[in-house]
This record gives sequence, structure tokens and C-alpha cells, in this order.
Amino acid sequence: MAEKTAKKTASAPKAAASAKAAESAEKAAPAKRAASAKKAAPARTATPAETAPAKTATARTTAAKTTPKKAAPKKVAPRKAAAGRAAAGKPVAAWKPESRTALVRRARRIDRELAEVYPYAHPELDFENPFQLLVATVLSAQTTDLRVNQTTPTLFAKYPTPEELAEANPEEVEEILRPCGFFRAKTKSVIGLSKGLVESFGGEVPGRLEDLVKLPGVGRKTAFVVLGNAFGRPGITVDTHFQRLVRRWRWTEETEPDKIEAAVGALFPKSEWTDLSHHVIWHGRRMCHARKPACGVCPIAPLCPAYGEGETDPEKAKKLLKYEKGGFPGQRLKPPQAYLDAGGRPAPPLGAVSGT
Ligand code: SF4
Repeated sequence: MAEKTAKKTASAPKAAASAKAAESAEKAAPAKRAASAKKAAPARTATPAETAPAKTATARTTAAKTTPKKAAPKKVAPRKAAAGRAAAGKPVAAWKPESRTALVRRARRIDRELAEVYPYAHPELDFENPFQLLVATVLSAQTTDLRVNQTTPTLFAKYPTPEELAEANPEEVEEILRPCGFFRAKTKSVIGLSKGLVESFGGEVPGRLEDLVKLPGVGRKTAFVVLGNAFGRPGITVDTHFQRLVRRWRWTEETEPDKIEAAVGALFPKSEWTDLSHHVIWHGRRMCHARKPACGVCPIAPLCPAYGEGETDPEKAKKLLKYEKGGFPGQRLKPPQAYLDAGGRPAPPLGAVSGT
């Protein structure tokens, strides 16, 4: 009997096919009807344990044979979807106003992404002590860090201390600083700040913001560079790249450096301010340029309201990147040595323009 039932169960799908036959049988004779019902019954009345596997297997086979398998809609994370669109050069959805919480999350995510792309972001001026960093930062206005790095060794070899630079012959200093541009104004500034250090701070660079900004030619931006990188005190460097990028990202609508600094500072823990400044400035120098940002290869395109302001075609965008020694700056997780020059020092960017 069990064998019979199994046979019948296996042929259960046929029961449906023979429904019409059963119907005619019903009309024909009660005896036949009873027999048909008896034949169909096991499939309907058998326990789920008995029928389910057979039914399921058959249903699957039938579905595979008769209807093309409908692929379940693939779940794609919104961010990945936007990244895909960005990579394909298609515009991402129009930017919607966001809550404060969403803004904080997006800002921090951008910083995390940039930290991955530029894991070795660092101040790109060469220095060995706070005095050298202070002077180099003043000299970096309107020129490249590379140019400053080519100039300062001669300057510091001749005038290694604030005392010596304070007493320097301006014409000699001008000659050394000529390649940096605005060399007369810069000579005045570095000699002036050296005198300020000698007269007010005993020849030492002070480690407090309020003292640094009292020195001639030293503003908050320069002071934060020195505090963050020579004293390890958190600071946000609002240079021209930083201003441009944070406005593109709609972190703030402010236009004055002091207000930008306060607005952006409020989005991040203080301990992250210095690294954040490096990440943003590196991205501005290498990829998110003032005139032609390389949106098509930008790793944070899905998080950027200004995506599309620059070149979105990946091939064309690649050509806009400012390369640094050792590789393509947009490459993630490239080996550390790719960021280092032959001497094992962090490689400087090529043609990066420092802003003030
Ligand atoms: S390169 Fe384009 S997508 Fe990337 S941050 Fe700049 S504007 Fe936004």
C-alpha cells in the first residue's frame, strides 16, 4: 500500500492534469467517481511530510522547464548604487537637505574615506623644528610646498635660529627667497617674525594660538599648522583648498576662515582636527581642484553634493589628477613605499599649490 501511495504521490502532478478526466468520470458513474476520487485523494490528503518534498521538487522542475527564472531584485546599498552611477559617469540623485545628524555622519564618513585614500597625509613642508615650520608656512603662501622645500635648506643653513634671521641683511634674504615669489614681502615677514620671537618669546616659538597670532605675518591658519604639526595640538587649517572643499561638500555655507573653522570643528572630535585638515587639503591638491575637479575617479563622489562640477568621465578625470611620486593618488591601500621617495621620506606632490 505504501509503495502504491508513493507511486501515486510521485504522480501527483498528473492528478491536476487529469482533473478534467475526473470531472467527466464524475458525470459518468458513481463507481468510477469513487475510484477517481480514491486515486486523487492520496495526493491531497497525505501528510505534509509525505507530500511536501515531492510537490516542491516537482514544482521546481516544472518552473524551471516552463517559466524563465525571475531573478530576485538585487539589493544594492544606496551608497554603492550612487558610487556605481558616479563611476559610470551618471549624475547621482539631486542632493536633498539633510538633518544635522546626517550631516555629521556624512562629514565623518568623507573623512574616513579620505583617510583610506591618503593614509600618509602629512604636512608637506620640510622642517626640523617649530621655527623652521613657522617660517616655511609663511613662505608657502601663493607657491608650492615643493618650491618652499627647495628654498628653505639654503635659508636655514645660513640663518638657523630666530636670532640670526632677525639680524639678517634683507637683500641677502631676498635673493634666497626669490624663487618663492613675493620675495620682498616674504623677506619682511620672516625677518619681522624672527624679531618678534626674539623680543617677546626669548627666541622660542610659543605653543599657544593667542601668542602665535601676535607675531608679524602670522594668522590663524599659519598658527594652526604650527600648533598641529610641531606641538601636536589639534587645529584646523583653513587654507584655500579647505575652504573650497568644505563648501562643495556643504559642511558649511560660511565664507570667512574663522567661521568655517568653527563650523567644521563642530562636526568632528577635536582630536581629529589636524588629520582632517591634511586629508581635505591633500584631496584638494590632488583631485578636487578649483577649476576641474576629477569627479569621475573621486572615491567620495557618492557623498558629495558637488559631484558633476568637474569631469565625470573616468578616463578624462584620471588625466586631471596631480600625481605624486610613486603612484596614482586615487588608489586605495597602495603599499606604503608608494608614498615614499628614494630616501624613504614622504613623497611631495608634484605641482601642488599651497594656498593662504
Ligand atoms: S572631485 Fe568632484 S565628487 Fe570629488 S569631492 Fe570634488 S566635487 Fe565632489
